[in-house]
Amino acid sequence: MMSTALVSFIRELYRSNEFIPLHAPTFTGNEQKYVSETIESTFVSSVGKFVDEFERKIEGFTGSAKAVATVNGTAALHTALYMAGVKQDDYVITQALTFVATCNALHHMGAEPIFVDVSKVSLSLCPVALEHFLTENAYINEAGCFHKANRRRIRAVVPMHTFGHPAELDELLAVCEKWQLSLVEDAAESLGSYYKGKHTGTIGALGALSFNGNKIITTGGGGMVLCRDEALGLRTKHVTTTAKVPHPYEFFHDEAGFNYRLPNLNAALGCAQMEVLPKFLQQKRSLATHYQQYFANSEFNFVSEPDYAQSNYWLNAVICPDVPSREQLLKVTNENGVMTRPIWKLMHRLPMYQHAPRDTLHVSEWLERHLVNLPSSPVELVARDV
Ligand SMILES: *Cc1c(COP(=O)(O)O)cnc(C)c1O
Repeated sequence: MMSTALVSFIRELYRSNEFIPLHAPTFTGNEQKYVSETIESTFVSSVGKFVDEFERKIEGFTGSAKAVATVNGTAALHTALYMAGVKQDDYVITQALTFVATCNALHHMGAEPIFVDVSKVSLSLCPVALEHFLTENAYINEAGCFHKANRRRIRAVVPMHTFGHPAELDELLAVCEKWQLSLVEDAAESLGSYYKGKHTGTIGALGALSFNGNKIITTGGGGMVLCRDEALGLRTKHVTTTAKVPHPYEFFHDEAGFNYRLPNLNAALGCAQMEVLPKFLQQKRSLATHYQQYFANSEFNFVSEPDYAQSNYWLNAVICPDVPSREQLLKVTNENGVMTRPIWKLMHRLPMYQHAPRDTLHVSEWLERHLVNLPSSPVELVARDV
């Protein structure tokens, strides 16, 4: 059967008879060395050279005008939304198919999500569905974009690059410009993913990355705000570091800032992980190719990167032909120590977001019934005959 054969195939890829997780961190570079350096120097906390170095490395890698490190990806998203001007009672349009952090970040600002469907091409926010929703439900005047039903402000659009596959950003950007909405990218899963040659998270006004333990690289916990220009970046840094006005000894803060600064200890881990990121990307791409070939002549459809993009293949995914085959795949693999997972429970099914406005979510719900995530940790694959 497909599921039993798949277990053997995955064990062969990872050359392991142990439990195979969905995504585990790997430390084979300078991680120990840099982390020890912070301990020896005593600079483990909010001051130290690794924070700046990590930010510069991310800027160099992504081409972002200014990157600002934060304690985690949720904090990066919160900061990005704050900088985009999201306020109490605003609506923010996003996906129902996402990790809960996307919604929590805006919920804690007193804003409410609106759920729009995803595209079958990217699994990320669909520009056609977005335009349709706005045409049916919104109007614009000189003050901005508002919901027809209750005249609440619709402030921003947050596409999430699902599993690392870039959303259709040109089209989303065009809709946002037409409707006077800010585009904030939840790029938590997509470090190393490019949309038409540009790194994800650098196309909207702001983007957020995550370095949680299950992401392509990790700092233990950590995140990064990517800012479109230098001025926005400097203001973002100010806000995430308690809005303290620089002075040798006086403590003056000019607004209610956040304490979201990434500790130097974590940044040290990040600097070492950035050195191996290119290798991880290459290994994950090769792993995805093996999965793709494996499923090529089956009823199962491997999720490949959209043709306009280069994905980091953070989490590999396969679309099962029907619900019973999906159930069987999940059951057999997990019972045999190979971790696979259904997609997240869609956001409109969670108690705190069940009343949020939404469109039909046809594609999201279809994916919910058919999609399974496969083990995706970077691995050195031995040359094998296919
Ligand atoms: C990982 C992730 C985040 C942020 O997570 P943290 O654990 O706070 O770093 C946000 N959105 C999505 C879609 C994610 O996958």
